[in-house]
Amino acid sequence: MISVNDDEDLHFRKAEFDPADCPQDCSRPCEIVCPANAISLEEEKSSAGHLWNNNEEGKKQGGVLTERCYGCGRCIPVCPYDKIRVHTYVRDAAATSELLRREEIDALEIHTSGRQTLHFRSLWEGLGDTIHHLRLVAVSFPDVGDSTISTMNAMYSIMEPRLRCFNLWQLDGRPMSGDIGRGATRESVAFAVRLAAASDRPRGFLQLAGGTNAHTVAGLKKHGLFQTKSVSEENFKDGQSMVGSLGPLDAPIGGIAYGGYARKVVGRILSAMQSQHGLTCIEESPDYLFKALAEALALVGTVKCYDVPS
Ligand code: SF4
Ligand code: SF4
Repeated sequence: MISVNDDEDLHFRKAEFDPADCPQDCSRPCEIVCPANAISLEEEKSSAGHLWNNNEEGKKQGGVLTERCYGCGRCIPVCPYDKIRVHTYVRDAAATSELLRREEIDALEIHTSGRQTLHFRSLWEGLGDTIHHLRLVAVSFPDVGDSTISTMNAMYSIMEPRLRCFNLWQLDGRPMSGDIGRGATRESVAFAVRLAAASDRPRGFLQLAGGTNAHTVAGLKKHGLFQTKSVSEENFKDGQSMVGSLGPLDAPIGGIAYGGYARKVVGRILSAMQSQHGLTCIEESPDYLFKALAEALALVGTVKCYDVPS
């Protein structure tokens, strides 16, 4: 699956700041709060390798490790000196089409604001017939209140003429926050409860995202929304007939996307590995790889209803 956006979106931004501008006595709360360990600051050393002992003392180097930053924004409000900015970007439809044409991509996730469909239409039209190479199109959007269903219907009517595969609505209950505590999942479950009950929503599976964590399945069960429905490999080979055979209220919850929470539980293993072995690929440390897989399976197992080996 590849992810694209049709306009500015929290998932498509990176934090940035110039560490040379940071006051020398800053206690670096940005570094502490970052859940992805994407901020690394060190005191600058002289060319001889010693810490400066003049007015350069304490000057910082390093900053945001762009490839690790996932745009959660938590570093921004904690900076007492307002030094952190965000750089947003929009994926180019032509570059995405080129990727789809190579037939190595099964699924496309489109992040949209849910507030208008102008940019969504423009992206969808820009992708042209390359959409036909896909097995799944997921549209990710936040709860925008009363207009949510009408916007979903508007987006579906834009997609429908060229949609020949499964489609899924990814409900971004509370963006990138599942790792902050048990209660974060309430908004994603509440969003799912509302949409599952809406008979006027368009065709497509519902998937929870944003605020999802280890308590999400329990939250869904409490509302009678957790059930499984098998989709056979034969159905996958012929997505069109499967789409045609599903009623709009079948299999109300098609999946759960664990973003920030998965990053947190697997991140603990990665940090332990890095403390022992330094910066290395997890595939080179089988013990840590299997520990990370066990953490991931503990999440997926509750959704797929299988026991996780201890
Ligand atoms: S935006 Fe989030 S992930 Fe990126 S540097 Fe700031 S706290 Fe870290
Ligand atoms: S909190 Fe702000 S001033 Fe302090 S180190 Fe981080 S970016 Fe620099």
